[in-house]
Amino acid sequence: MPYQAPVSEFRYILDHVVGMDQVAATERFAEATPETVEAILTEAGRLCQDVIAPLNRNGDLDPARLENGVVRTSKGFADGYKAIAEGGWVGISAPAEFGGMGLPHTLTTVFNDMISAACLSLGLNPLLTQGQIEALEAHAPDWMKQMYLPRLISGEWTGTMNLTEPQAGSDVGALRSKAEPNGDGSYAVTGQKIYISWGDHDFGGNVCHLVLARLPDGAPGTRGISLFMVPKYLPNEDGSLGEANTLKVVSLEHKLGLHGSPTCVMQFDGAKGWLVGEAHKGMAAMFTMMNNARLGVGVQGIGAADGAYQHALAYALDRKQGKTPVEGTGTIVDHADVRRMLLTMKADLFAARSIALACAVALDMSKATDEADWEARAALLTPIAKAFGTETGMRAAETGVQVHGGMGVIEETGAAQYSRDVRVTAIYEGTNGIQAMDLVARKMADGGEAAQALIDEMQAVAEEARARNGDLGDPVWQATESLREATEWLVAQKDLNVRFAGAVPFLSAFARVLGGHYHLKAAMEEAEDGPRTKLARFYINRLLPEHVGLLAQSMVGSTDLYALRPEEMYA
Ligand SMILES: Cc1cc2nc3c(=O)[nH]c(=O)nc-3n(C[C@H](O)[C@H](O)[C@H](O)COP(=O)(O)OP(=O)(O)OC[C@H]3O[C@@H](n4cnc5c(N)ncnc54)[C@H](O)[C@@H]3O)c2cc1C
Repeated sequence: MPYQAPVSEFRYILDHVVGMDQVAATERFAEATPETVEAILTEAGRLCQDVIAPLNRNGDLDPARLENGVVRTSKGFADGYKAIAEGGWVGISAPAEFGGMGLPHTLTTVFNDMISAACLSLGLNPLLTQGQIEALEAHAPDWMKQMYLPRLISGEWTGTMNLTEPQAGSDVGALRSKAEPNGDGSYAVTGQKIYISWGDHDFGGNVCHLVLARLPDGAPGTRGISLFMVPKYLPNEDGSLGEANTLKVVSLEHKLGLHGSPTCVMQFDGAKGWLVGEAHKGMAAMFTMMNNARLGVGVQGIGAADGAYQHALAYALDRKQGKTPVEGTGTIVDHADVRRMLLTMKADLFAARSIALACAVALDMSKATDEADWEARAALLTPIAKAFGTETGMRAAETGVQVHGGMGVIEETGAAQYSRDVRVTAIYEGTNGIQAMDLVARKMADGGEAAQALIDEMQAVAEEARARNGDLGDPVWQATESLREATEWLVAQKDLNVRFAGAVPFLSAFARVLGGHYHLKAAMEEAEDGPRTKLARFYINRLLPEHVGLLAQSMVGSTDLYALRPEEMYA
């Protein structure tokens, strides 16, 4: 079934669940009027639905390939990319002074959701460029901003991020790439980077690599790393493309999925580059890009969940099998278990999407107001949005295969592609395990203050709902109370490894409770027993209770994990 952009769903969440009106009320984002938001949603939806989604199968069947050192992209991708660039979609939230639209990141997040549902592998390209734009805006010297930002924002040039090396994956501090000063303000960057998404393509323009490397006087570990802009072509003063830099794509990875996205092994041989931000402070500069990308990757999972859901629903409404226990459509949708699967996909999709959009609203509010509370809220929600968004994508895509029965594993239906494509989202941009550790350590370094403030808000909404609709309000209220107790327990653990041992279930439980909160908000905005109330009831009855087991797991401690010796793990 062709992808249908869920424009009215986004509008509902923005207007009634995550408080987009607060963003539009700020001076910085005054231009995000309801009319502008409507126009962006509609046009982005049209592009993703009509132009990008038809390319999705090409990416899978006709993967990117390396020919004579140059990446050739999947059939139709170059035209699809042109449509993205010409529509100005790379620079929705980029600064207006460099040609961007200057609109809230919340709208970029909606765009990223739709393009991920339409074609995850192509959508990854502008996502990386968006992150690079943010990093340059925050850390690049003026001349670099003038040269690179207008061209990245217009989509004429694209951006990549080069962190990973064979011995330096999650442990970025172990990297060995080097940068030597050339004596003229530039640097010679040497090293090999692996898994570099969109490290090259045939869309034209320049490929701008942000590369982490160590200066000769850089200390070992993350504190001695610097960030460099290393373009594929050295730009002339007027921005035209000059000579080729001394870097190349050595090979492309053969992957489980996401075949349309070229994943490159890059070799830099004394390639000319320029420092971005201060020497030895590269990790801080790269974090600007990574935080943006973490939310963006969570949203990739959510988009994939939507694509998989739409596919599965269409199939289920068509497939007839067996006598159904209720009068209905006469298709497998009338079977209780198929209902369970489809509603789980839909309810989780709503929960994950609301969490991601609430995170984007917090990011926008922190930019617009400079208030520390908003910054802390965005920081707290980022790992949850990343991990829960991608988990939702994986689970929904898996369930989508199951809804299709045998046809789920037959590639022609396209159901399996969602499952293969989305798998890596739980791994790149910091694995979901690393996200959970970030949540219980760095994001709780305030003694749990930001988490408790959010729990207070959830509890206030549940309290209000209790009076009106006890069967929904009571369980959410109880869940927030259990989450509060577990948060207090975690914060009290001084041994960080005890926190880490429970980090993943804690993050999942936090997301489960947040999902209950947003479902409740959506239900409270409509007349009783409308479709949102029915979906909220499903979520609260069947999915929210998972938080009990998850919170119990998060407080077990670490002793049992180390009880079995490695040699005993073989037996
Ligand atoms: C398709 C694809 C595209 C990618 N694109 C890019 C890109 O554009 N740019 C780029 O720089 N990188 C990219 N990556 C790399 C990606 O970010 C890394 O794969 C990821 O960070 C994990 O590193 P690793 O693969 O070395 O796994 P490892 O770090 O070896 O991790 C293996 C396992 O150990 C766990 N682990 C590791 N350290 C810890 C710890 N301290 N505590 C607890 N658990 C831990 C992990 O969670 C994981 O489960 C891409 C990867 C893929 C597969």
